[in-house]
Amino acid sequence: MSEEVVSLLQKMIRINTVSPPGNEKDLAVFLEAYLKEKGLKPCVQSVEDNRANLICEIGSGDETLLVLNGHLDVVPAQGEWKFDPFAGNSDGTYVYGRGAADMKGGLAALTCAFLSVIPYADKLKGKLRLVFVADEETSNHGSLYYLAHDKKRYSKNYAVIAEPTELRVCKGHLGAERYWISFKGSGAHSSKPENGCNAIYLASKMINALEQYHIELRKRSSSYGSPSCAVTRIEGGEKDNTVPSSCKLFIDRRTVPGETKKDIDNEIDIIIKNVFGKEKDRVEVSSFFDFSAGRIGEDNPLIVTACEIAKRRRGEEFGKPIIFGAGCEQAIFTNGGFDTIVWGPGSLSQAHVPNERIPIEEVTEAKKLYEELIFKMLR
Ligand SMILES: [Zn+2]
Repeated sequence: MSEEVVSLLQKMIRINTVSPPGNEKDLAVFLEAYLKEKGLKPCVQSVEDNRANLICEIGSGDETLLVLNGHLDVVPAQGEWKFDPFAGNSDGTYVYGRGAADMKGGLAALTCAFLSVIPYADKLKGKLRLVFVADEETSNHGSLYYLAHDKKRYSKNYAVIAEPTELRVCKGHLGAERYWISFKGSGAHSSKPENGCNAIYLASKMINALEQYHIELRKRSSSYGSPSCAVTRIEGGEKDNTVPSSCKLFIDRRTVPGETKKDIDNEIDIIIKNVFGKEKDRVEVSSFFDFSAGRIGEDNPLIVTACEIAKRRRGEEFGKPIIFGAGCEQAIFTNGGFDTIVWGPGSLSQAHVPNERIPIEEVTEAKKLYEELIFKMLR
């Protein structure tokens, strides 16, 4: 079986699902045929043109649903590669290629764990479902489409996202709220600056306040770390000899689980009122990007079980859940009604970089970890 998980991973790397455009349907159709050969009844769920999710289910009963999730798309193979990113080569220690770690390695391990459970499908107390989605890297359309079209929920709903965590169980991930903040001044000849209202000076007041805001945010500690705020871009001014009438800042506010977009909107609003008082109408905020942080309660049976299994098989530190260092779809599945963990083979340091690779040992081990999790959660 360990050879099967490796050869499946290699085949998946060879099917190019770089997004955009994605073309995940090619991989979904390949997996559909692969699962049909094993006597299963998979379904290719069309999301957009040549973009599709792959769904397959075994088990019975209405009590528990365990979803095994991952994304079919990969990011472009930019930068200097020492090998063909879509050849799916292996040297016996690693498998190489775009998506090896993020996250076709996880998909292969989930698929093979799913297949190895088939002989016991009748004994499962609940449903086990593969949900492999399109368009995770750009717009999350695949997951959102799946959740919008399958609203049936069970007494207990769990999901495992096989993003690369080096097999550490992750209880959450940070989110991000990003905004443009525009300042309206009034122009004047720059030899008489007092005749105008300098929009860059307005922006600079806000920059100082945001720098202070970040220091305060870092004092808010939680088991997920602390939030942050950074001004990352500035655009403004019209001419060399004109008092600028407009300026705008871009801010990137990283959130911890529990913080909502509304919370952040309010905090920024308060800063603006404090800094600008009656002149607050000179400032306009527009949200540019909204991605919620994800989390699961540390006493949830899914994370407790996963940590027990990881600790026993991989050592003491694997029993402690950590925070996933990047964005992922945990919050989307949580909002969809699933208690969700992030847990998969491969390193995040290999994601989105040239010469991506994954240790074969982690892929084969992930398959065994998932098998145990399935039996424990659906017994
Ligand atoms: Zn990923």
